Amino acid sequence: MGQIICVASQKGGTGKTTTAVNLAASLALLEKHTLLVDCDPLGNATTGIGIDKGKLSCDLFDALVGRTYPRDILVESNLDCLQVIPARIGLHHAEKYLAGKPEPERYLRNIVREVSRDYEFTIIDSPPSFGFLTKSALASSDYLLLPLQYQIFSFEGLAQLLLMVRSIQKKLNPLLKIAGIFYTMCRNDSKQKEIYNTDFLHQLRDKLFSTVIPWDDTLAEASDLTCPVALLNMMSKGAVAYMQLAQELMDVLASDR
Ligand code: ATP
Ligand code: MG
Repeated sequence: MGQIICVASQKGGTGKTTTAVNLAASLALLEKHTLLVDCDPLGNATTGIGIDKGKLSCDLFDALVGRTYPRDILVESNLDCLQVIPARIGLHHAEKYLAGKPEPERYLRNIVREVSRDYEFTIIDSPPSFGFLTKSALASSDYLLLPLQYQIFSFEGLAQLLLMVRSIQKKLNPLLKIAGIFYTMCRNDSKQKEIYNTDFLHQLRDKLFSTVIPWDDTLAEASDLTCPVALLNMMSKGAVAYMQLAQELMDVLASDR
């Protein structure tokens, strides 16, 4: 069974989707069989990896409500080793639809656990809140990977995030672990880095990845062109950094076995 990693943070615009798309693409380019699961009704990861939502006949919502078999919602990407479970706006209705059922979070978990058996890595993109879909995504995952925007205010939500992880571990998924935290959208300023590192919450210090994702306009450009940055410019700062993140993540997970 492969490893399931959820990219999550309650803050909006911290680079979750950019990370999910480019991390999944980097793993696939390293010839690791990878599944990207879009668990955000906005479907940005679906579009960002190059899938035209208008051409889909079904998506994650259809599997969640039992209209489709989980394997029937898989879509190919432009990379040989990467497949995608896409999402569209209708996924918003999942919470309402599953409300009242016992353990509604297990519906996503069952789908992800079934399909991810065929992959070495499953990367889940989640919405910017601790709502039903993010809880379901974390209930489905072995690991949480947290992108932290390179600003002082990013630390404000961390205590809340730790509480959320503990609550998920207690109620839904005792095996969930924090794989790591990494800085993203980092402008080149080492002085700032020192300040942020000394202020870093003590409990999480050993979880900080050495990989830092720099600010790189090529990442935003690739997202506009709906492709992973490595397919736009393999040598760009963003592509190199996400490849390094993939490598560091694999090392961390291998040493956790
Ligand atoms: P949301 O919470 O709304 O889902 P998100 O956390 O998924 O947002 P992204 O959509 O990945 O965040 O990124 C927000 C914006 O920042 C996007 O326009 C993206 O292209 C851009 N971006 C992400 N990472 C970088 C980076 N390292 N350098 C430059 N731009 C970036
Ligand atoms: Mg997003």
